Amino acid sequence: MGLYLEAMSVIIPFDNSYARLPGSFYTVQPPEPVRAPRLIAFNDDLARLLGIAPGEAQEMAEIFAGNRVPEGASPLAQLYSGHQFGQYNPQLGDGRAILLGETVGTDGKRRDIQLKGSGRTPYSRMGDGRAWLGPVLREYVVSEAMHALGIPTTRALAAVETGEMVIREGRLPGAVLTRVAASHLRVGTFQVFAARGDTRSLKQLTDYAIARHYPDAEGPMGLLRAVRDAQARLIAAWMSVGFIHGVMNTDNCAISGETIDYGPCAFMDTYHPDTVFSSIDQMGRYAYSNQPGIVVWNLAQLATALIRQLDDPEGAVAEATEIVHAMPALIEAAWAERFRAKLGLRSAREGDVALITDLLARMAVGGADFTNTFRALAEGTARDQFTDPVAFDAWAEGWQARLATEPDPEATMRAANPAIIPRNHRVEEMIAAAVAGDYAPFHRLNAVLARPFDDQPEARDLTAPPLPHEVVQATFCGT
Ligand code: AMP
Ligand code: MG
Repeated sequence: MGLYLEAMSVIIPFDNSYARLPGSFYTVQPPEPVRAPRLIAFNDDLARLLGIAPGEAQEMAEIFAGNRVPEGASPLAQLYSGHQFGQYNPQLGDGRAILLGETVGTDGKRRDIQLKGSGRTPYSRMGDGRAWLGPVLREYVVSEAMHALGIPTTRALAAVETGEMVIREGRLPGAVLTRVAASHLRVGTFQVFAARGDTRSLKQLTDYAIARHYPDAEGPMGLLRAVRDAQARLIAAWMSVGFIHGVMNTDNCAISGETIDYGPCAFMDTYHPDTVFSSIDQMGRYAYSNQPGIVVWNLAQLATALIRQLDDPEGAVAEATEIVHAMPALIEAAWAERFRAKLGLRSAREGDVALITDLLARMAVGGADFTNTFRALAEGTARDQFTDPVAFDAWAEGWQARLATEPDPEATMRAANPAIIPRNHRVEEMIAAAVAGDYAPFHRLNAVLARPFDDQPEARDLTAPPLPHEVVQATFCGT
């Protein structure tokens, strides 16, 4: 009576638009099988959204390790280039990732399903095409936490152990992440065709990006404007939760406006604008407070690439310049809106920005924890976060006066200030446990971080800032 085993098989309703683009966009490439795949995690909610029917664990492990290519997939490695720490690299591309294909979800949205850590491709250069368990679990936890915070991001569908070791800082267990994205189009996808003078591909890519992400946008400059607006909102959202991406290269800057490529990323504990985590960012190029400036720089690279397809370069340069130059003000406006809400302010008044920056300046001097200070505003205990609480009191006087005319500021604050974020030392601790075979901290982090705006008294250990000896000094890319 229909109780056949096939009914238990994974079904992914693929519809692969990228694979229908010309061969200049990618290389057809199946994932490279691994020795002993074992499923660590599978995101059922996300699978449902994608229209995926899950199967039994071993079949899922084989599919999401790349050992078995599911029916309907068109595995390929995407071509792109990009500026890495300001230097143009003419060819990057998916060196350790394979796009399996896309589905149109139950919400009508098209999304990529990509394996990361799935073996070598023609774009691997010196790399082994693999990922180790640490970055895979970090990306899983942090990207899902970002989603729960309401910030546009790629998501994690599955994590699989490979049963193989990879060589990084020593021998480490290998893993594969299944990443889901609105698309993997990056600023660097446009740059590679522009740099090669391949106007035909550049035009096709522009049309594809518009159709997929911004159907109302008109032409290359319309696309530029839409990406600008999405990225401006994204950066403001990052800033509002103390998120530091770590590697904002143009190949890690998504056209969709989603956060992409979680490498040596982290959330700040103690507030300081100069905070950097990435061990490869010696100059602090991608420090917390530099992120708004960097995204404008990245948009300028997109503008430069898009212009290459236009017949009237001079007119286009003028228009593109105007679009890019308008970005800082847009970021500031989105930033002010985010931070006003963090202070409980729904309306906008003159003096609000000064009120915000004054608090941040006092937090930097007072060694205040970013997340906990804002969360404590609604509870009336924020002063305890400062080495010198009197410095907070002096600020709070003006704030209280401003709050007087706001309807229900506490609700506004509770919705804008998360109680919990993935603290770096807890993420590192979770990775160490997983390497030792204990996945309980990984599953617990995911469960708690799924409700970041709820008070969860049982998770107090996860909301506490690190003790001095727990502070993580640098987060390694460890790709
Ligand atoms: P990322 O730092 O993850 O943004 O990667 C930058 C570039 O290096 C991309 O082209 C990646 O595909 C490539 N890459 C990173 N790690 C590896 C690896 N282990 N094997 C091959 N390519 C890699
Ligand atoms: Mg990347």
